[in-house]
Amino acid sequence: MSFETYRSQERQAKLFVDGTTKLKNVGVHHYGLACDIVRSVDGKPSWDGDFSIIGRLAKKHGLVWGGDWKTFPDAYHVQRCRMADQKALFAGTWYPSETYDPTARAETAPIRTDPDPDPDRTLEQPISEIKTLIVEKPEE
Ligand SMILES: [Zn+2]
Repeated sequence: MSFETYRSQERQAKLFVDGTTKLKNVGVHHYGLACDIVRSVDGKPSWDGDFSIIGRLAKKHGLVWGGDWKTFPDAYHVQRCRMADQKALFAGTWYPSETYDPTARAETAPIRTDPDPDPDRTLEQPISEIKTLIVEKPEE
């Protein structure tokens, strides 16, 4: 079963305190680009057992699998963002396009050098607004 997709900053902070995540303020879940998948046992979520099938399915469908992470393996987690691109995602300077392939080796996240057009923007804005801010380059 799909256990969690979108995650608020409040919940991310709580999970950080609980030791469930290494990311204190935001994670890829916050951008609607991640999903945690667990077993359904009698209709309830279960984290027991082998989740390597999620890794196989993630690779087949072009997703990054948390079970491949060396420092903090997360076998229940898949995401549509390379680790190397997370910094730009969290900084609000980049959001994956529809053709973005997180399994591709090439660097795909553009590094923006111009100042943020809206420094007061918060992460609580809907993703559609964040996408607009990132896709549209400010006029010079
Ligand atoms: Zn996750």
